[in-house]
Amino acid sequence: MAAARELKISRTTQTSSVCPYCAVGCSVVIHTLGDKARNVQPTVVHIEGDPDSPINRGTLCSKGISLKEFVVNERRLTKPLYRAPGSAEWKAISWDEAIDKAARRIKDTRDRTFQEKDGQGRTVNRTASIAMIGGCTDTNEINYLLSKFRFGLGIISYENQSRL
Ligand code: SF4
Repeated sequence: MAAARELKISRTTQTSSVCPYCAVGCSVVIHTLGDKARNVQPTVVHIEGDPDSPINRGTLCSKGISLKEFVVNERRLTKPLYRAPGSAEWKAISWDEAIDKAARRIKDTRDRTFQEKDGQGRTVNRTASIAMIGGCTDTNEINYLLSKFRFGLGIISYENQSRL
């Protein structure tokens, strides 16, 4: 008689989370394998719909069911990539360098294009030269913070999943 196979989730740690792909917000259970020792990198081995969720009751759509491949994927970018003006090459840079570059460009563009009054003398305090866009993997909390950020800078071109 063949030995019984062990379930792939039999020794996992379960973490509740929310599918990031769309505004339905289905609940998921993330199964992670790893004994929590300091020198062991835990690995996500399975993600499934949470049967206790009143939203999706254990189900996931075809995008949600592919979440594990989104998390564990050798093609996933883990470092910022930078392509210099005129260059055909992308090169990996550090997060510090990427944040410095983005901050410099935002500051320079805003300083150059900021408009305090419109053509009729009304106070507008805005720049039309910077735009922000958020994707479906941005959470409401991220979008809330981005809204605060762009209001502070006077950015008026803004779009994201949650229409804040
Ligand atoms: S599983 Fe599908 S319907 Fe549910 S939040 Fe994810 S993308 Fe949206």
